[in-house]
Amino acid sequence: MRWQGRRQSTNVEDRRGKSRIGGKSTGILGIIIVLVGAYYGVDLSGITGAPTVSPAQQTPIDSQLEAQLNELSRVVLADTETVWGNYFAQHGSQYTPATLTLYTAGTQTACGTGQAAMGPFYCPADRKVYLDLSFYEDMRQKLGASGDAAFAYVIAHEVGHHVQNLLGILPQVHQAQREVNQTQANALSVKLELQADCFAGIWAHYAVNQNILETGDIEEAVRAAEAVGDDHLQQQAQGYVVPDSFTHGSSEQRMTWFRRGLNSGDVNQCNTFAAN
Ligand SMILES: [Zn+2]
Repeated sequence: MRWQGRRQSTNVEDRRGKSRIGGKSTGILGIIIVLVGAYYGVDLSGITGAPTVSPAQQTPIDSQLEAQLNELSRVVLADTETVWGNYFAQHGSQYTPATLTLYTAGTQTACGTGQAAMGPFYCPADRKVYLDLSFYEDMRQKLGASGDAAFAYVIAHEVGHHVQNLLGILPQVHQAQREVNQTQANALSVKLELQADCFAGIWAHYAVNQNILETGDIEEAVRAAEAVGDDHLQQQAQGYVVPDSFTHGSSEQRMTWFRRGLNSGDVNQCNTFAAN
């Protein structure tokens, strides 16, 4: 993937090293995490046992790698701003970029306390994508998905949630989720997640056209989408799969929707709510 030395977004808030969880009791913290965990990040709670995990259990990351991931993240964010800036402009409006908040271990958000063990997530209330760069190592070690394109896919997916928020999809679905039972709410969550994957694919479509994604990168990103499928995560965490509890979609679905965005570059191809 071609990202070194390219334009970086300025919509980045760096809280690394400054952030800490103001936690007293792990019990209370656990409850907050579960709530925030619902915010459509790549949820690793099944693997890491989020409610009880402590920041100390985080995978350490070497500083040279961290510097590279910092640059990569800013470049990918800038590319998503180009992609979505164009899309909104074509539809007579303006794209308001999300802020990428980099943090270490834990941080306060408008959606509650964020913790690295939850994986990256988007908070609609403050329009920020929260990312602990050590997630790269989590992906590599716990999910077997590694490489710059895999990491870029994750960022593009979170920005996809921001786009859903700007388009009014996110608030609408959250409202609908409050009016249905848990299984139906989960099914709506899956549709949101798959759409964010499709939106990530739209970033990838642009990146291919700009020769940013090179041979092998596409496969790497698709493999990352596969790795964060609910069936894969559940199988890995508990040894069996409960489809009714899926909140992000199966590996097959995540790959399919990512590819749909990738092949078409067309938002109209990302209507997961109309699809079966
Ligand atoms: Zn998501």
